Formats: sequence, C-alpha cells, structure tokens
Amino acid sequence: MIKENLERIRREVPEYVEIIGAVKTRTPDEIKELIDAGITIIGHNYVQEAEDTFEELGEYSGRVQWHMIGHLQKNKINKALKIFNMIQTVDSFGCAEEISSRSEKINKVMPILLEVNIGEESSKTGIEPDYRVILETVQKISLLSGVSLKGLMTMGPLTSDPKLLIPYFKNTRLIFDRLNSERVDNLNLKILSMGMSDSYKIAIDEGSTMIRLGTILFGARHKKTTL
Ligand SMILES: *Cc1c(COP(=O)(O)O)cnc(C)c1O
Repeated sequence: MIKENLERIRREVPEYVEIIGAVKTRTPDEIKELIDAGITIIGHNYVQEAEDTFEELGEYSGRVQWHMIGHLQKNKINKALKIFNMIQTVDSFGCAEEISSRSEKINKVMPILLEVNIGEESSKTGIEPDYRVILETVQKISLLSGVSLKGLMTMGPLTSDPKLLIPYFKNTRLIFDRLNSERVDNLNLKILSMGMSDSYKIAIDEGSTMIRLGTILFGARHKKTTL
C-alpha cells in the first residue's frame, strides 16, 4: 500500500514538488518500504527518535536525505547536526546562530528553513509573521557562515477544513516572494515547505515546493502523538 500511495501522489503532483515522508511513530519496516518505493527525503520530529531510526535502518539510512521537521531543542543541536541534511524548524535568529556556531566547529554548513508561525498560534513554534521582523531575521541569518538559508516552512493552523488554510498559505508565499525580491546578499530562497496529507493540493496551488506527508502514505498513525 505504501508504494501505491507514494506512486499515486508522485503522479498527481508537479515534478518540481519534493515529497517528504513524515515518519513519526512509524516502524523501521514501514520506513524501509517507503524508501524502496522511492522516497528521497525522510522527515523526523524528534532528534532521539531519528537517531534510533537511523541506526535501525542500516544501509537504508544513506539512501535518503534526513530533514528535521519538529521543534529543535538547544541541547540536541550537536546530535541533530550529525543526522540531518536540513533543519526546517529554525524559528529565530538565536536558533540559527546556535546551529551556525556549532556547525562551523565541525566545518559544516547546515541548510535550514525559517519556520513561520503563519497562524500566529501561541501553541505553535515559528517566527511571528511580521514582515519587518522576518526580513531583519533573514538578513542577519544570511551573514552566518555555518548555516545556509534555503527557504521557509510553515504548518498552518489545525482546521477541519483544509480550504481554510488557503489565506495562510497565500500569505506565506507572499512573504517568500517578497524576501526574494529584496537584495539580500547570499540569499536565494528556493524552498517553500508547506502542505501535509490533508492540505498538500491546496498548498501546491499556493506555491509550495515541498510537501510533508505522513498519514496519506502510511495510513493512520500508530500511537497518539502530540502533533
Ligand atoms: C506529522 C507531520 C506532518 C505530516 O502530517 P500528516 O497529516 O500525517 O501528513 C507534516 N509536517 C510536520 C511538521 C509533522 O509533524
């Protein structure tokens, strides 16, 4: 089923759209199945869980890119740098600076996305969607040598009707385009990570270039999670 699901979605969405398999709560066998089906990016919410999965998957681990899509705690940054190819959930200059200084020490440049809390929800992480604040943050991040800002990521508020997400996705896209129109040295944002199982079509219509899918690939989640 996982294979059919991925193939169907791959056919459905434009070629430029990258698909991330959001694997929280999934077993190593399920993840292997997804990798065999051709997924190229795995998204993880927790550093510790990602580390365990990385070990359990053996040679499979090296066949995919690993993206951090959950909130990153400061004390997990060093571990995260070892596993992940991208951290999508940078929500402040301070966070970017912290990642940068640690990755400099190991001669790395970590690709990152700035997470925008587009629904301004107190329960969610991400930078507030105030353009001035975002621009200033992006300008400062662009001067850091241990990280490379590749784009924006957003979750959008939890809703029963995905159509209600349209204005939020539109707004994120506007911020994305506006940032790209500024003449910030070293800045060329290419990735707009938005859209999940229930909202990826809408997100793509609004300009998403990267969708993060769990349920629609694997079926309902096994355990209760806080996400
Ligand atoms: C779980 C998760 C997803 C995927 O959610 P589904 O609704 O299962 O597709 C996407 N992004 C993030 C950040 C997640 O935590």
